[in-house]
Amino acid sequence: MNASAPTVGLVSLGCPKALVDSERILTRLVAEGYTVSPTYEGAGVVIVNTCGFLDSARAESLEAIGEALAENGRVIVTGCLGADPEAIRATHPKVLAITGPHQYEQVVQAVHAAVAPPHDPYTSLVPPQGLHLTPRHYAYLKISEGCDNRCSFCLIPQLRGDLVSRPAAEVLREAERLAQAGVKELIVISQDTSAYGRDLQHAPSLWHERSVPARLTELAQGLGELGVWVRLMYVYPYPSVDEVLPLMAEGKILPYLDIPFQHASPSVLKAMRRPAAQDRTLERLARWRSVCPDLTVRSTFIVGFPGETEADFQALLDWLAAAELDRVGCFRFEAVAGVPASTFADAVPAEVAQERWHRFMAAQKTISGRKMKARIGRKIDVLIDAVDETGAVGRSAADAPEVDGQVFLPDVSGLTVGDVVRCKVLDARDYDLIATLDAPPARPSVRERLQTRQGRRR
Ligand code: SF4
Repeated sequence: MNASAPTVGLVSLGCPKALVDSERILTRLVAEGYTVSPTYEGAGVVIVNTCGFLDSARAESLEAIGEALAENGRVIVTGCLGADPEAIRATHPKVLAITGPHQYEQVVQAVHAAVAPPHDPYTSLVPPQGLHLTPRHYAYLKISEGCDNRCSFCLIPQLRGDLVSRPAAEVLREAERLAQAGVKELIVISQDTSAYGRDLQHAPSLWHERSVPARLTELAQGLGELGVWVRLMYVYPYPSVDEVLPLMAEGKILPYLDIPFQHASPSVLKAMRRPAAQDRTLERLARWRSVCPDLTVRSTFIVGFPGETEADFQALLDWLAAAELDRVGCFRFEAVAGVPASTFADAVPAEVAQERWHRFMAAQKTISGRKMKARIGRKIDVLIDAVDETGAVGRSAADAPEVDGQVFLPDVSGLTVGDVVRCKVLDARDYDLIATLDAPPARPSVRERLQTRQGRRR
């Protein structure tokens, strides 16, 4: 670390999309010569990247700002809560600057004003793949920002605006740099991944002398050529998603779809103003599974939405039993200031929502336990996330980091974080698997390494 370089600290709250924003801000600042301080005391200024999705997230963000002010005193606020500067100033009048989500330029300017950049901005201090806050072996790849939908419970379009997609070549170049830097898994994120490129009218851009349209299928095809795991998150069940299923069946991208269904009762979905609410999702799931039998489907749901009756909730449980989803998360509806649903009549009492949440999670636990047991005896690839003297922990194609299950490999040795190893499943818990090595990690021989080094020098 350069002792004379100006320093910044960063506290990143919220979802993976906010994390990617934090990475971009840090990448830009380090490119200018700033160093990143891991402590409050070492930082010339602290950036707090906030989340404003739910009231609980707003409270957590305000608390984090307070902590940074108490510990350092010089604080810049950005991110979703930054769209409501009055609320921040009312609690924390001493913050130096407030910028909204996606306002990288403004954050950087605020940092310049607080701690002047070093004199030589051309010194290259940043690796070509940028700076990442995730572990070295996986990275989030943001393909678009904003959303054209207007779900009645969601503040995102107000905070982040309409859909703005990145050209396909720009995304592919970033993905390529990440893969070359050793990333083994790319997790594609956005607010609405299936809508990717609509705002660009799917205009093509040039990647390796090949014209790639800004459309999910072609983007996934390109990503599938990089030799790393590619996982799609936040996909809506539009008909166009049918096109990516063959890529999963052929092993080009992971057979994994994260689809936030949110509910199954038609009247609740209508009140939620969900995209694709009218679609026959069970039929679509069955069709996808016939194309790609190994498909893992993850989803999230909201219970206790205003107007949700016991019959609506029962319809959701029936749908869940029929859909047999692999991974499921569930939230109780929270009335967030500024979203239409918060003003809807027939609010569901908190204790009813809580009771439904328990019933929902119990139903899913049974489904998940059954599906996990069905995997005993199978051979699966596992990406290693952590290693210690007692063994290793990793994830299969069915497990996104942070939100899904894990694969435990007790008593194995010789593995490194980022290895992909063939394993045999020995046992199962409700959400996790226990496995053992079926084949050691494929490592290049000394001769192959030498050839690679010589090839790079040519
Ligand atoms: S699809 Fe709906 S829930 Fe998702 S970001 Fe857009 S408006 Fe919000």
